Amino acid sequence: MTAPLDVLVVGAGPTGLALGAQLGAHGARFRIVDRCLDRVRESRALAVQPRTLEALAGFGITEELVARGNPTARLCLHLPRRVVRLPLFDIGCDDTPYPFLLFLSQAETERVLGAWLAARDVEVERGTELVRAEREGGLVVCRLRRDGAEETMRARYVVGCDGAHSTVRTQAGIGFEGYAYPQTFLLADLEVDGLEPGSAHTYLTGAGMLFFFPLGEPATWRMLAMRPPGTPVDAEVTTELLQGIVDHWTSDGLVLRDPVWATAFRLHNRGAARYRSGPFFLAGDAAHIHSPAGAQGMNTGIQDALNLGWKLAQVCHGRAPERLLATYESERAPVGRSVRGLTDRAFTVATGHHPLLRLARTRLAPHLAPLVLRSTVLRTRIFRTVSELGIHYRRSPLSLAGTRPPAHGPRAGDRLPDVPRGLQARTSAPGWHLLLTGPPHLWSDERLAPLLRGREDLVTVHRLAAESPWPDVAQGLVRPDGHLGHVARGAHLAGLRAYADQWLPV
Ligand SMILES: Cc1cc2nc3c(=O)[nH]c(=O)nc-3n(C[C@H](O)[C@H](O)[C@H](O)COP(=O)(O)OP(=O)(O)OC[C@H]3O[C@@H](n4cnc5c(N)ncnc54)[C@H](O)[C@@H]3O)c2cc1C
Repeated sequence: MTAPLDVLVVGAGPTGLALGAQLGAHGARFRIVDRCLDRVRESRALAVQPRTLEALAGFGITEELVARGNPTARLCLHLPRRVVRLPLFDIGCDDTPYPFLLFLSQAETERVLGAWLAARDVEVERGTELVRAEREGGLVVCRLRRDGAEETMRARYVVGCDGAHSTVRTQAGIGFEGYAYPQTFLLADLEVDGLEPGSAHTYLTGAGMLFFFPLGEPATWRMLAMRPPGTPVDAEVTTELLQGIVDHWTSDGLVLRDPVWATAFRLHNRGAARYRSGPFFLAGDAAHIHSPAGAQGMNTGIQDALNLGWKLAQVCHGRAPERLLATYESERAPVGRSVRGLTDRAFTVATGHHPLLRLARTRLAPHLAPLVLRSTVLRTRIFRTVSELGIHYRRSPLSLAGTRPPAHGPRAGDRLPDVPRGLQARTSAPGWHLLLTGPPHLWSDERLAPLLRGREDLVTVHRLAAESPWPDVAQGLVRPDGHLGHVARGAHLAGLRAYADQWLPV
């Protein structure tokens, strides 16, 4: 019998592809299968957040994503009697090289990730469905079906990146609790005459919200609206139906034409009871689904994958203890819960029929929007949250502050900011990165030798003399996913040694 595989990745949507890239970059032995014969051509998610762009930069694909997308700088909020232009991410995002919301079709994001894998001879095995997965003697025995034939294979770990109806989740016996929203939504990728190009547009009405997003490919605009009450639920989504909504909800004389794709769908808010059960892991939509408010879904899935991939690879190589894998759930499940809560609140305000919510949309919003615009504190908080730059793992067992953490600057568990500019690029190669600040003589090779011995292939050392993220003499150990594991002030290495012995044992 052939040796078991390290990891079977089930599903090649954005989450599975990102996991494949992270496993590949860290040298794991894995396969990635998807039951669909071809990748999805329509766009579902259409925006990539700054934190996702940062996280994908290590694969060298962010520049291509940015070149193919539209870094839209503002949102036009169409209120009953005026238009308020809200700058997007103009504040609170100065520590990233990507301070913008990138509008890009999900199909294009998947294509770029898929091309990265193909260039490294990783085949996405399409038309291959996981039909069964059972634990047996510390492994998972998986049955894969392709062209009517079945293959049995064994893997140490199986990751369900297989979407909302996850087979892996079912096979692992993990619940998926939550609720469906009562409204039906209409979505169309099409051309619109009369819209100011390049910006995102939101029409606030008593009946709900109507959105136009600058998509680019396969059509200029993505329209999203609630199905008007009274329309039959199974009515075809025609241009006439959509034009009727636009005429009823706006007075701008917009003309819709040339639809490329139109569909109706219902939204759910659900979360997996656990992200892990023994050798089974869940990531992306298999672990959490919610409304598209704030464009968080695909982004959260990709970041789940990037958190899990290096951990699996290092455990499989015997370079990290098995308990490292427990930190996946403790770090990512709170993020999933927070995104579900956030999107639920935004969605309820945007679509609710309660008279107070209608009042909020039509009467309060025109007064509140300028106040929000003026408040830098509020705007910073909103942008930090939506951009996902504010996600941290400060309470994770993997985040350890030294006895004297630096007075200012990023803390253990925070993402490494791009301060000074270029720091993220310098620390994006696979593996851990040790940042040492202060006079270089403090960090001689002799002093570091006991710490690095046996870890030379895992840790890259950077001596940051002039500019640094911390004002003091400090040490920061950056994880392979760009978050700080250990941060300490001063030149004593005992805390860092203890951390390395725990998580990077020799
Ligand atoms: C209409 C619509 C609009 C959306 N708009 C947005 C948006 O604006 N912003 C946003 O961020 N998100 C949006 N989303 C959500 C976003 O598309 C998802 O969050 C994202 O696709 C999740 O990626 P994933 O890889 O986790 O799962 P998926 O993209 O669902 O991929 C799962 C893959 O697993 C495969 N698979 C399933 N079962 C098996 C099996 N047993 N064996 C093998 N393969 C299997 C499937 O074929 C599929 O390719 C939208 C979703 C929809 C439906």
